[in-house]
Amino acid sequence: MPHAFHPRSIKAAALVGSGLASYARAKRSAEASILTFHGLCDGAVDHGILDGSLHLPVEVFRGICSMLARHYHVISLAVLIEARTRGNRLPDNAVVLTFDDGYASNYELAYPILKEFDLHATIFVTTGFLDGVEMFWFQRVDLALGRSKKELLDWKINGKNLRLYMGTYELRQQSLMRMLPELKELPDIDLLGEVDRLEEALGVDSPEFSTLPKSMRPMNWEMACEMSLSGHVDIGGHTHTHPILARCDSLSMRAEIATCRERIHAEIGELPVAFAYPNGGQDDFTRETLMLVREAGFKAACTTISGRVHDNVSMYQLPRYGSPASVWEAEATVSGAFETLKDWRQNCLKAMSMI
Ligand SMILES: [Zn+2]
Repeated sequence: MPHAFHPRSIKAAALVGSGLASYARAKRSAEASILTFHGLCDGAVDHGILDGSLHLPVEVFRGICSMLARHYHVISLAVLIEARTRGNRLPDNAVVLTFDDGYASNYELAYPILKEFDLHATIFVTTGFLDGVEMFWFQRVDLALGRSKKELLDWKINGKNLRLYMGTYELRQQSLMRMLPELKELPDIDLLGEVDRLEEALGVDSPEFSTLPKSMRPMNWEMACEMSLSGHVDIGGHTHTHPILARCDSLSMRAEIATCRERIHAEIGELPVAFAYPNGGQDDFTRETLMLVREAGFKAACTTISGRVHDNVSMYQLPRYGSPASVWEAEATVSGAFETLKDWRQNCLKAMSMI
């Protein structure tokens, strides 16, 4: 389905068109918001991969940056952290841009647009991915299901029997969306073995970095250094191998955070200020994770839990909105229009219950 016709984008267009986004922007100007992106893609859907949701079309990103440059104050995450830590006031309608994982498309497609509109972003990199030694397990599963010659596979996981159909591109996409949540539940120590077995059962080899589809490729450290030196990009931490930290034991959790920090320091020459939890949902990190991230020296950490950055949010659980699929959705999100609509609905229901 084209991004612009997604139901959330249609709702967003109505909120922007009705003026509610402008109203919310004025009413909620003191609340900052953080947007999360992953990769960008150039042109049409990449049929070499099943999950295109991680790779936003570059023209949509350009439209979002143009809108933000006109109506919002895009600030760096470091400025937001500093202001929230010291209790200083932020500029009105402050927005922070972030990218997760460290895709080459951040450098090739996003960076020129950041420079064009004079905007800043933080890129949270998975250091083993940039080193070219750690392939993302979710990319391997995507490519295994996409490239297998099989049309059907019965797979036992977490006590369930999944029947995975692969007769068409759409069926392969559905099979991937059924497998990913199951794999995310596994203890980290079992995950890669499970992916190895899945590749074997599907009759495909593990992919090489050189054969990855374009949108899946990592940036290299030269790209990260150039962006960091430009002043338009800060490099943040996103672990070394991208495990879900809550599924790791204490020792590997500590090592993932420390190795990531050391690799960034060694390559960029500066210690990263901020960290982002892989997957980033409420169940994907623990109290111990927050403590280890703080102990490692990070000043703040981002989740992927939706919400606005109020004065009282924890610096180690900063909320972030997911990637908007259209300019309308970006405006309805950063203006606070979605939340304003939700508040109105709740107030309305409360008032009606009193009648
Ligand atoms: Zn990630």
